[in-house]
Amino acid sequence: MTDLTKQYEQFGISPKTCSFGESVLDSLKERFRRIDETAEYNQLKVIRAMQECRVSEACLLGTTGYGYNDIGRDTLEKVYAAVFHTEDALVRPQITCGTHALALALMSNLRPGDELLSPVGKPYDTLEEVIGIRPSRGSLREYGISYRQVDLLADGSFDYDGIRSAICDQTRMVTIQRSKGYQTRPTLSVERIGELIRFIKEIKPDVICMVDNCYGEFVETTEPADVGADMVVGSLIKNPGGGLAPIGGYIAGRRECVENAAYRLTSPGLGKEVGASLGVLSSFYQGLFLAPVVTASALKGAIFAAGIYEKIGFDVFPDGKQDRHDIIQAVTFGSPEGVIAFCEGIQAAASVDSFVIPEPWDMPGYDSKVIMAAGAFVSGSSIELSADGPIKPPYTVYFQGGLTFPHAKLGILKTLQNLMDKGLITPDFHRA
Ligand SMILES: *Cc1c(COP(=O)(O)O)cnc(C)c1O
Repeated sequence: MTDLTKQYEQFGISPKTCSFGESVLDSLKERFRRIDETAEYNQLKVIRAMQECRVSEACLLGTTGYGYNDIGRDTLEKVYAAVFHTEDALVRPQITCGTHALALALMSNLRPGDELLSPVGKPYDTLEEVIGIRPSRGSLREYGISYRQVDLLADGSFDYDGIRSAICDQTRMVTIQRSKGYQTRPTLSVERIGELIRFIKEIKPDVICMVDNCYGEFVETTEPADVGADMVVGSLIKNPGGGLAPIGGYIAGRRECVENAAYRLTSPGLGKEVGASLGVLSSFYQGLFLAPVVTASALKGAIFAAGIYEKIGFDVFPDGKQDRHDIIQAVTFGSPEGVIAFCEGIQAAASVDSFVIPEPWDMPGYDSKVIMAAGAFVSGSSIELSADGPIKPPYTVYFQGGLTFPHAKLGILKTLQNLMDKGLITPDFHRA
């Protein structure tokens, strides 16, 4: 028995489970090499942006109170604009999460009478309340902003005819979600987002195209603004925070769009000038610096999970061979027990809170019970090893993150062992 196998045994993972994992890993070498190449490209992109923006030691310090002349905050926003190839950016700890960043981008750029269009189907669960698809206090709908949606076609392609007829005089903004979220539709590649934006702008050139970039940052060498997005929005406790940012969101885009968001975040007249960065800037900078490699670790974890569960006979999405455009891996277990056992395994592999057992609960913003496994240094951070699944058919778990690949690997092996211990997988690695 190797020393490594002994290490895994301390986590309750059998040598057999380990060697099954190794056999899957052997088939992934070429894919991992390509992921490392993308990480290298993006690492250079981030370093170059920091150099061009002249990030200095002083930028790592923070301000208090109003936060006037916060050089670190202002420089960081320039760095984000340089990384995402946009005119401007708003990157703040006062943006509390991804939903808040998206709500801010929408509410600040839409006016009563305007219409918002989603040409890629239903948006992320929490946005239903922001938009007012599910009636909600303070929604866009309460402010007289209407919403229209065109679903993807059955094969995952864009419904171009439907989109053309949905665009009307009132259409002011289009929201495009890059990642699949809690759905099993394909995640959109940056290239496909570009095709969609080109099509929309040909019909209505002045429409604002916003991309929900959550979970997509640094997965490819291009980002949505490279293909015409006017605004790119995301959370700092996902990919771009690199696991270090303790809070925050970003909006990168055309200057006017970003300024609108700033006037809404703080106040008309104040905009970007206020907003103390307190003590978080060095984690924002260092997190962004680490983000390309952290994202690569999470991607490898997702592909490893796909390889394992596909081999066992569960539906995995994307499958082990498909190209990746976000870090999320969906595995459909077909039963609540499978979802729960998977999440317990992830939790048990954590450094923080490994001893707690996750349970389904009524989480705000979601329409069914959700189980979440997250033993994270930053609470709720889903760039850290985490898994969640709504307790509703088809009982799919969404797995993501892993700040390092060895941790992601441990987590996945632990889920496998847990499913096996509970009899949901046979001893010869087949679906029970
Ligand atoms: C996570 C996520 C959000 C919301 O972000 P929170 O930080 O959880 O509020 C929105 N859209 C997508 C696609 C996401 O993955």
